[in-house]
Amino acid sequence: MIRFALAGNPNCGKTTLFNGLTGSTAHVGNWPGVTVDKKEGVYKRCEEPIAVVDLPGIYSLSPYTPEEVIARNYVLDEKPDCVINIVDATNLERNLYLTTQIMEIDVPMVIALNMIDAMEKNGDKIDAKALEEKLGVPVVAISALKGTGIHELMERAYTVCKEERKGRTVLESGALAHLITDVKIALDGQGVKNPLFHSVKLAEQDELEVNEHKDAVKMVEEFKKTFKDDVFGSDFEALIADARYKYISENFSSVITKKNKEKFTSTKSDKADKVLTHKIWGIPIFLVILFAIFHLTFSEDFLYLGKIFGFSSLEELGVDTEAFGGTLLACFYDGAIFSPGVIINNLWNNIIVEYCFGWLINLIESSGMSGWAIGLLNDGVIEGLKAVLSFLPPILVLFLFFSILEDSGYMARIAFILDRMFRKFGLSGRAFLPMIMGFGCSVPAMINTRTLADDKERTATIRVIPFFSCGAKLPILTAVSGAIVAYFGIGNADLITYSMYLLGIVAAILAVLLMRNTSLKGETPPFIMELPAYHAPQFKNLMAHLWDKAKHFIKKAFTIIIASTIVIWVLSHFSFSWGFLEDEYIDQSILAQLSMLLQPIFTPLGFGSQLGAFGWVFVVAAISGLIAKENVIATFATLAACLVASGLELGSLDIAAESGIDAVQAMITATGIGIPGLLAFIAFNMTTIPCFAAVATAKAELINKKSFNGTLIFWLASSYIVASAIYTIGSWWWTAFIWAAVIVLTTWLVILYSKRAKNKLDNNNPV
Ligand code: GDP
Ligand code: MG
Repeated sequence: MIRFALAGNPNCGKTTLFNGLTGSTAHVGNWPGVTVDKKEGVYKRCEEPIAVVDLPGIYSLSPYTPEEVIARNYVLDEKPDCVINIVDATNLERNLYLTTQIMEIDVPMVIALNMIDAMEKNGDKIDAKALEEKLGVPVVAISALKGTGIHELMERAYTVCKEERKGRTVLESGALAHLITDVKIALDGQGVKNPLFHSVKLAEQDELEVNEHKDAVKMVEEFKKTFKDDVFGSDFEALIADARYKYISENFSSVITKKNKEKFTSTKSDKADKVLTHKIWGIPIFLVILFAIFHLTFSEDFLYLGKIFGFSSLEELGVDTEAFGGTLLACFYDGAIFSPGVIINNLWNNIIVEYCFGWLINLIESSGMSGWAIGLLNDGVIEGLKAVLSFLPPILVLFLFFSILEDSGYMARIAFILDRMFRKFGLSGRAFLPMIMGFGCSVPAMINTRTLADDKERTATIRVIPFFSCGAKLPILTAVSGAIVAYFGIGNADLITYSMYLLGIVAAILAVLLMRNTSLKGETPPFIMELPAYHAPQFKNLMAHLWDKAKHFIKKAFTIIIASTIVIWVLSHFSFSWGFLEDEYIDQSILAQLSMLLQPIFTPLGFGSQLGAFGWVFVVAAISGLIAKENVIATFATLAACLVASGLELGSLDIAAESGIDAVQAMITATGIGIPGLLAFIAFNMTTIPCFAAVATAKAELINKKSFNGTLIFWLASSYIVASAIYTIGSWWWTAFIWAAVIVLTTWLVILYSKRAKNKLDNNNPV
């Protein structure tokens, strides 16, 4: 099949175009470096089907980071039939820098002049025809976002790909051009493919190139000697970059007609950035925005109107919440107006989930199956599934907000603000981008660390990515905090979830700082990301993100989670002698016996031996989370159903409809665990070894075996420390002083250690 490669700067719209051409829903993010691996899809509207490959973004063909190497090697070695070079028209000169390099390769090529819609909105004009004539390469103006011009682009590319094309360079005058021509002729004589491209890179002394063509390097040196010494100076890379930029600004500044001719007009983006990336206010603003998101997603008292005005509850108003109209009303209001996230959640759970699963449970119960089969299906499978699926709305609502922040360009600013704060301590803003991606899922986030040039920074980042609570951990957070609010009647669910997210972020930052100053010490590479312009989030993009998330979540629920809950149910209903156990003898099951053995390990964390009967369920839940974090709540639900079936008195519990929260409440009743233990349980799950998929990804991305083992130990240790700190401080406030003392001592030791390491270094390298 014919193959076209999409190449261009980061954030110029490659993935948007790729999705438009192939109908796929690859992740489009408004910050550079989202696509770190190549992706393939098929375009079907030309004469024959065409494979389209989305490459990671690159600024030049002299790569520095692993993902830049992928893009360069693809274009050079895999010989696509055509390279579609995407150029962001609003940033023409910088984008053409890459174009002038791709032009040097002997490959058919078309330029897609993207973001024409944004250009027109500003009232600016660009002359695509003039650009085409000057570059000698077809240019098609498109808007990847709106889908305009993309079919014409493919038609042009299709025509071009049938013809041979020889590379051309813009370095066409002076001694440099002579040198390049001489080297090119020599390489051509040796049968090297793409002689022009390689001769330029050799002249540039590009690292990859020099390693690849060792013998040619000598030849170039010989050639260089034939020129007068002072023609070039010593820095060829800078010389060539300079020549390219000069050519670009001399030849192409005329193709754009700007509406605003004034020297400097501060754009709306600049104005917004004055506030949002403010030196002092940037971080507080971020925290407030984040809190607002959690409030809109989780609060049962929208804007605290209920607290302020003291509305009556539905009961006081005499509404029958059992009747359908009452149930519906109760989704929106009960003593306070609910936040949009809670309303969506209630509608989904009180109406759809209750109805569908209720029907299913009745069906199974009246089917005449034997008791154990009904138990397995109802308690094992359905309760677990229901508990997991009941969290679909909060996950989607939260991700809708995160996607808006990301797509608008705000998340990229967060990386920028944090870079300013933490650079001194060995953490660059570049590393924050994969961390922020971790809010979605650790797996792509860990893969995204390929954008980090420094190996040690990369290892540290991979280790803390799980601390950024992912979608699968959200059920744990929501269910446990919801149960705390419902059972103990204190606190707001939004505040608890928000603080737990913050706890994760703070723990991650502290851990990286610690590692970067001890075992993973190293230079912090410069942060060379440019900030993308703000723009209104695209509905299509947002929906694609949500759809992806929902699909993934539901698929997991019906595969891994069902399988795990069945295993949990079976292990909890058989004893070591393989006799079947009724629900009330669950304490004698294999599951219970084994987890009771492990229970003492968790005692310092507040959910170990100190819990009463059934305390072992917390151990089981935590361990089942190693497979998938959704399992934690599914396990609670499965075991809670058994406990309830065996006659656990739930007393006058106000059982809400969300079954995940019910399950945790049943566990609180059964075990007598307190708030500190529950908070420690959340924190433990957030910072411990992540799910199986994330562990496998970490193993693949950490090339060094030793650092992988270190990573497992790091996760165990950090979760142990964080959870026990929360439990002890929550139970005995004065232990806070002990923890503070430990932290001060550690910091002091780290400073001492790095000073000594530095002295040693200085002694070894006397100036
Ligand atoms: P990539 O990094 O090159 O893959 O770029 P993406 O496809 O992820 O897009 C980066 C950002 O530019 C996203 O926020 C897109 O919505 C936006 N974008 C892409 N194409 C266009 C376009 O034609 N017009 C406008 N206005 N924005 C676009
Ligand atoms: Mg991309």
